[in-house]
Amino acid sequence: MKRILVTGGAGFVGSHLCERLLNEGNEVICLDNYFTGSKQNIEHLMDHHYFELVRHDITNPFMAEVDEIYNFACPASPVHYQYNPIKTTKTSVMGAINMLGLAKRVKAKILQASTSEVYGDPTVHPQPESYWGNVNPIGMRSCYDEGKRCAETLFMDYHKENKVKIKIIRIFNTYGPRMHPKDGRVVSNFIVQALRGEDITIFGDGTQTRSFQYVDDLVEGTVRMMNTRDSFIGPVNIGNPTEFTMLQLADEIINLTGSKSKITYLPLPDDDPMQRQPDIDLAKKELDGWEPKINLRDGLKSTISYFDTLLSQ
Ligand code: NAD
Ligand code: UDP
Repeated sequence: MKRILVTGGAGFVGSHLCERLLNEGNEVICLDNYFTGSKQNIEHLMDHHYFELVRHDITNPFMAEVDEIYNFACPASPVHYQYNPIKTTKTSVMGAINMLGLAKRVKAKILQASTSEVYGDPTVHPQPESYWGNVNPIGMRSCYDEGKRCAETLFMDYHKENKVKIKIIRIFNTYGPRMHPKDGRVVSNFIVQALRGEDITIFGDGTQTRSFQYVDDLVEGTVRMMNTRDSFIGPVNIGNPTEFTMLQLADEIINLTGSKSKITYLPLPDDDPMQRQPDIDLAKKELDGWEPKINLRDGLKSTISYFDTLLSQ
């Protein structure tokens, strides 16, 4: 049994990760400031003997004896990370320093939830880990993109200077049950709009692409990454390479929900990447043949069913 700290554990991805780690027989400390996460996401874990919930903001130091740290605390949706951009950068940068400091003190292994956003609006397609990215350092998305890039730098330097055992994953757009209905990301927006019969809001002309990964595939890749040999630190892309336009996504959601919603077009936000698709060759090689198993249709079905129940409560 390992003692594992999950920051951002009451969030969408973090809650699935806590569940998985508990099911594997570990002790889990879930740390969250409830900015975008909620106790509801982890309600079902509260009675678990080996689950502990701590309200804490990772911009402040935290002390605990742990074997592993999964650093997932950070708002991930553009609406949320742009709400207080300075705080977003602090969460990524000071949060990384605090968690790396903890890992150094207690000799814990630490995994960073980085993002495909480190590639910005990519000029290389699909994106391999060797691509340095095309990021605007002073735009609307910079607080998130540059915060995450700086966190990667800190991870690498703590590893080089202090021999901290690190792992970096670059997560591509992930969706699934427990996304917040007002999260603002495209999958949750379209599903909620379709279920309510409201207009589906496409930003721009809808030809921009994303590659959508179901949350279970991400959790599997994340846990496998933590368990790789110490010399493999990443960064490694974790995502589903099947690419869709936002128009295709809207059509699929309208079909699956049987909704009468119409599509409406709104302006494309600044610096919105035109395309995104992970190159997952490295993940396949290093993560014991890992690859996404759940296709968009099946993943959307279970996500729609989650939101259907939530919205009818
Ligand atoms: P989320 O917003 O649902 O979860 C983030 C969690 O972190 C929330 O519970 C929030 O309350 C908590 N949090 C935020 N700031 C904090 C702070 N200062 N101190 C303590 N807790 C704090 O988002 P998510 O989709 O679950 O994303 C989880 C992680 O994965 C994030 O680090 C995100 O950058 C990364 N990621 C997610 C995606 C995706 O598509 N879901 C893609 C790339 C990277
Ligand atoms: N998007 C959209 N309608 C929405 C929300 C988002 O068309 O209601 C678009 C957004 O402009 C982007 C894509 O969907 O091109 C993915 O957006 P999301 O916020 O989910 O993720 P990110 O841009 O961070 O990849």
